[in-house]
Amino acid sequence: MMRGLMMDAPLMISGILRHAALNHGGREIVTRLPESGEIHRYGYRDAWKRSQQAAHALTKLGVAPGERVGTIAWNTHRHFELYYAVSGIESVIHTINPRLKPEQIAWIINHAEDKIVFFDTTFAPIVDGIAQHCPGVEKWVLMAGAEHKPEMKTEILTYEELIADEPDEFDWPVFDEHAAACLCYTSGTTGDPKGVLYSHRSTVLHAMSSIAPDVIGGGAEASILAVVPMFHVSAWGLPYGAPMAGAKLVMPGAQLDGASLYELIDGEDVTYMVGVPTVWLGVLDYLRKNEKRLDKVEKILSGGSALPEALLRAYEEGYGVTMQQGWGMTEMSPIGTIGTLKPNHDGLPQDEKVKIKLKQGLGVYGVELRVVSEDGKILPRDGKSSGHLQVRGPWIASQYFKRDSDDQFTDDGWFDTGDIAHLDDDGYMTITDRAKDVIKTGGEWISSIDLENAAMGHPDVAQAAAIGLPHPKWQERPLLVVVPKEGCSPTEQQIQDYIAEKCAKWWVPDAVEFVEELPLGATGKVLKTDLRERFKDYKLGEDKPKKARPETSAAPETDNGGEKRKKFLGIF
Ligand code: AMP
Repeated sequence: MMRGLMMDAPLMISGILRHAALNHGGREIVTRLPESGEIHRYGYRDAWKRSQQAAHALTKLGVAPGERVGTIAWNTHRHFELYYAVSGIESVIHTINPRLKPEQIAWIINHAEDKIVFFDTTFAPIVDGIAQHCPGVEKWVLMAGAEHKPEMKTEILTYEELIADEPDEFDWPVFDEHAAACLCYTSGTTGDPKGVLYSHRSTVLHAMSSIAPDVIGGGAEASILAVVPMFHVSAWGLPYGAPMAGAKLVMPGAQLDGASLYELIDGEDVTYMVGVPTVWLGVLDYLRKNEKRLDKVEKILSGGSALPEALLRAYEEGYGVTMQQGWGMTEMSPIGTIGTLKPNHDGLPQDEKVKIKLKQGLGVYGVELRVVSEDGKILPRDGKSSGHLQVRGPWIASQYFKRDSDDQFTDDGWFDTGDIAHLDDDGYMTITDRAKDVIKTGGEWISSIDLENAAMGHPDVAQAAAIGLPHPKWQERPLLVVVPKEGCSPTEQQIQDYIAEKCAKWWVPDAVEFVEELPLGATGKVLKTDLRERFKDYKLGEDKPKKARPETSAAPETDNGGEKRKKFLGIF
């Protein structure tokens, strides 16, 4: 081989923020502070300095390369600083989903072996609930100043005090770009949550891809509202992509309702917005009720769940905003496909364009896609042969953290997504079903199996099967199908109340249907496809108005923005 004669410069996450500080130092990061609701603003240069102060503080606390630092936090400038400080010292930032049950959060912290955990004021009750179950955590740090310290039984430090006296210059180490940088657990599969461990290399490459015009795009002119949470796949890479491009980054903190988001959209001249469909439904509702327009917004990227046609049409036809669908996974950092149109679609009637935009989209450069049949054959890209969707590429997981082997990783080096899809000869991927037995509601997962196990603990239940059905607000909600024990006739309410005691409240099925038997396959497994077909016309949230979706707070209530948070915690 004749080697190319180019420098071998490792791709370091710290380099992204250095670049932004030097080239876009005044471009702002705007945050609605979770502890007060006030707006905080500063530039990338300030973020760079404070992340160096944080790097000093972490080093003093004894955080060593490879060790994990947890965060239970909203999208804020402090969370942003920690992204850089922790990875920059060659440690691993472990972003924790606060919507999980406290026991699950404790399990994840212990599995990750987090040494320090940073948390927002909102989540102080979670910390008080789990601290004694997390013996490995040496320090709990509130992400605020001393003046916002809540009454807590856990001994805590505060972030502002921790970094206050530290120098704002840090000698960032340069190391192997394959070093771990960030850890995020997914509950989008069955069994225990699984950790996806991103590297510096995968993170930087993903960010470079994300700023391409047809992916998230934007550039230095953009003002990007990052509604997608930093605790769920690094906010789809925005905390890396935005500074790389020099874009303004707008962080909504804990207030994700339509009115609060609109205030930021309007006040911060937002041009790009990124989040799950449920968020865009909330904003749409606010716009309609208050007769507001979206004059500056150019593009909305909606992902995490299928984009509803009515939502797409409402924004594109009613507000002149381009709406794009993105598909991806925690295991994919997450971007896999984006639903863009091509020049040859220009002359098509609007209805045809809508049909194309409702597909999950084109693979982005860096992600290879293939569809495989049940018996392992690669299916043609004919727009109709559906099968198991598999992917590979430099920002896709090769295994889960602290697990040797999992079925999702194929022998020939692909990752099986658990989605059922087809590809067409123009490159578009369309999801047609799901092989994995989970339900995705407002962007977060419910494990069907855990729900069924909980239901089967009820003394009157013989068998139970949970399926996800379309829901106008949450995209999908659970329906539980129950075979009662002989001679028993439990009520829907009794089953729901029972599950509410065992699971997070937002897992409680919207409806319970009683049947004499469940459809079973040859191996005795419930045929979920048959059940989904049987109940496909069942309406949740409309004709059959059950109780509204349960309040979705996995976290106990706090006095801090309590009502609002309680209402909107569940919309990712
Ligand atoms: P997560 O790892 O939690 O980000 O979830 C990834 C999964 O969410 C995918 O495997 C899909 O099942 C689902 N998903 C993500 N984006 C979309 C989309 N645009 N349309 C349909 N399903 C999606």
